[in-house]
Amino acid sequence: MEAWRIEQAAELYGIHRWANGYFGLNAHGNVTAKTQDTEVALLDIVQGMTERGLNMPILLRIENILDAQLSRLNEAFRAAIATCGYNNRYRGVYPIKVNQQAQVTEEIADFGSRYQHGFEVGSKPELITALATLKAPGSMIICNGYKDPGFIELGFHAIKLGFTCFFVVETPTELPIIIERSRTFGIEPLIGVRIKMTSSVSGYWNSTSGDRSVFGLTSTQLISAVDLLKAEGMLHCLQLLHCHLGSQIPNICDIRSGVVEACRYYADLLNEGATMTHIDLGGGLAIDYTGARLNDAQSRNYGLEEYCEGIVDTLKTTFDSYDIEHPVIVTESGRATVAYSSVLLFNVLNVTTFEPAAITGEAARYPALYPELAPMVEIFDYLNPQRIQECYNDAHFYRTELREQFKRGQINLRTRSIAENLFLDIMQRIVAILDTLERVPADLEGLKASLADIYYGNFSLFQSLPDIWAINQLFPIMPIHRLNEEPTRQAVLADITCDCDGKIDNFIDPWGGTSTTLPLHPPRESEEYYLGVFLVGAYQEILGDLHNLFGDTHVVSVRLNRDGSYDVVKEIHGDSVADVLSYVEYQPIEMQKRFRDTAEQAVKEGRISASERQQMMATFNASMQGYTYYER
Ligand SMILES: *Cc1c(COP(=O)(O)O)cnc(C)c1O
Repeated sequence: MEAWRIEQAAELYGIHRWANGYFGLNAHGNVTAKTQDTEVALLDIVQGMTERGLNMPILLRIENILDAQLSRLNEAFRAAIATCGYNNRYRGVYPIKVNQQAQVTEEIADFGSRYQHGFEVGSKPELITALATLKAPGSMIICNGYKDPGFIELGFHAIKLGFTCFFVVETPTELPIIIERSRTFGIEPLIGVRIKMTSSVSGYWNSTSGDRSVFGLTSTQLISAVDLLKAEGMLHCLQLLHCHLGSQIPNICDIRSGVVEACRYYADLLNEGATMTHIDLGGGLAIDYTGARLNDAQSRNYGLEEYCEGIVDTLKTTFDSYDIEHPVIVTESGRATVAYSSVLLFNVLNVTTFEPAAITGEAARYPALYPELAPMVEIFDYLNPQRIQECYNDAHFYRTELREQFKRGQINLRTRSIAENLFLDIMQRIVAILDTLERVPADLEGLKASLADIYYGNFSLFQSLPDIWAINQLFPIMPIHRLNEEPTRQAVLADITCDCDGKIDNFIDPWGGTSTTLPLHPPRESEEYYLGVFLVGAYQEILGDLHNLFGDTHVVSVRLNRDGSYDVVKEIHGDSVADVLSYVEYQPIEMQKRFRDTAEQAVKEGRISASERQQMMATFNASMQGYTYYER
């Protein structure tokens, strides 16, 4: 047998396809987080956390990766602008809804200040976050979403404080409020209009655009808005055109054709007399989750440089043909900015295999004791590649027969158990033969998956990976260590909620396609086995819920250092049991009191001793303060 090489593991899990250079494998078979000048094994970080008393699951944030993505985005636009000879600049804004956690927005505001990276907000709480987080004067805030008078008032304060704060009009009702407040405050607003695009895109979020999109103004509403502003002598305040085709747009052609449509609106708003200066193309820059580089919902058929050049080149060509000055380019990339920087880490608690138990051989050794099993035992004699379909059919037929006999009391439980084991044994042997065949018979396609091991992971799908449940999102998943060993098992993953939906049985295969099972290592006695779910920085945290009362996981932000060490920059403890109970309106103090009363009653009635009561109370109180996940 040839020795297993680490490069084979890299190929098997496709790490170089999806990691965007941020993750790799080291010579010890560990997954590392990488930046330009350093790499740190995730296992070292996990061990460091364990020493600090933080149990799995942990959501790990790597600040350097977030910084690097912000740089790449801004630098790629800068480069495209230079290459295409575009006569204006790029201003990025981060849409807060993609990950609102304070550590994330604060890091974006801090590191992003060198690029004057701003925020896109869609609600009052998001606007308040932006106002309290951005520091650089002139920072841009794009206000999308439904805006009530309070929202608009805050926006005017932002302008007064020196922020470049645009109100993007999404509905006809907002404009009169903006105009009225502008009079009251004596401040001129910066106004944008969101258009309803007719260009539609492929992917999951295609209903964001098109005639039935719930967002943006129709052309009729747009013209009324222009007329209203003109009548109020405020048309010069209209300076920005906004459009957003949807998130995770897999096809660069859709993006380009959206840009062309946006340019037409922009040009005609100029013709109408507006002082247009900014074109905001929204989000949509996709992540290649599968690494397939395909026009497919979980992938994309372009890279970052191509995206930027596609936009800048289309804008330049179109505006030049209209003889229009080039506006500032704004984009609102959220997913692409934050997805890479978070990894969910968890340990495997248990494994169920579908291997036959040792008792299988008994029927063959003592045929006289088990005459009913003879036809099943005989299958082993003709189990070969030419006859696998026949063996598969026979095994099913005899198993059904034997199950019926059991129901009718014709065979006993022990015989039935041997029959089930013989069946499993035959199925496993068929799977082994299938692996050597060029073509798998259609009937047997699902067999391998149906015999896959179940690895129970210490996490909640609903809390930490809701998009897997909601929209069948694929995230790269792999062990973070032992990659110098061949993973010999095929598995599906189950979480620790008591919900049959809390499972993962769709994985990325080595070619960027999908597979129903994931290759894993058999866990070792007395050693934890850790898996990582990658690219989970966008949308997952806030969409997660408290199913089965599993709360927020611990979150640890680290910064990788050049010498291969890391600093724990921020550490946020996950919810305790008391925390999650209070979310559903229990009062932990009151619960302790009630439990104490129950225990005291038991002491009174002589069922437990006073010192037993003491012990019970200690356990109860400690559990209240404990982590909601499995603790060893
Ligand atoms: C959600 C959203 C974004 C972010 O989109 P991504 O595809 O995550 O970059 C940007 N702009 C608007 C208006 C949005 O609603």
